[in-house]
Amino acid sequence: MDIKELFQNAKIYDISVGLSSKTPVFPGQDKFSREYLSKIAEGGRANLSKISMTSHTGTHVDSPFHFIKEGHTIDQVSLTSTVGFAKVFKVTAPKIDVNEIKDLGIEKDDIVLFKTSNSELWELEDFSYDYVYITPKAAEFLSDRGVRAVGVDYIIPEAFDDTDRPVHHILLGQNIIIIEGLNFTNVPEGEYALVCLPLKILENDAAPARAILIAF
Ligand SMILES: [Zn+2]
Repeated sequence: MDIKELFQNAKIYDISVGLSSKTPVFPGQDKFSREYLSKIAEGGRANLSKISMTSHTGTHVDSPFHFIKEGHTIDQVSLTSTVGFAKVFKVTAPKIDVNEIKDLGIEKDDIVLFKTSNSELWELEDFSYDYVYITPKAAEFLSDRGVRAVGVDYIIPEAFDDTDRPVHHILLGQNIIIIEGLNFTNVPEGEYALVCLPLKILENDAAPARAILIAF
């Protein structure tokens, strides 16, 4: 395969959200913040900032360790879970249940990404409680299919009131990685190469990531 030729016709979609103090976060968590330790405009030799955020702010990857005591931490997650063949499905229903996904052609080893109206919620600074979520039954379906990862376009993949977090447990319990905080605005449904690289924070439950889709 001619890789140079392949990339000449490639289109890259940035599906990451911007990080700033305006980025919405899960209720009760601190927002992203930045402090300049040195500023050229104030006589410093360089601009140098210190940033603070939870590991679940903006676009990020959940490792099994987030909910599973002995689960893999983010540095142990195989990159084949977040880099590879991916399918973007548009779901217009208010929730992602088995009916919405059973006939989509989801197969073993797919990386499955759900584009919903959630992508519009990134415009708002406050957390929106009315978002599209995956039901536990749909999570079981995805687990049975043997997908590698599931990506969603909001901060949490499941219903806010499901406080036992069954969707996290079902997916992470099977080593199916959850990518959260994606933005599919302007991304058509279809097949892509996903490149999503969580920062290699040792022994951590999650990590922020830059995520892109490449259409060839
Ligand atoms: Zn998370």
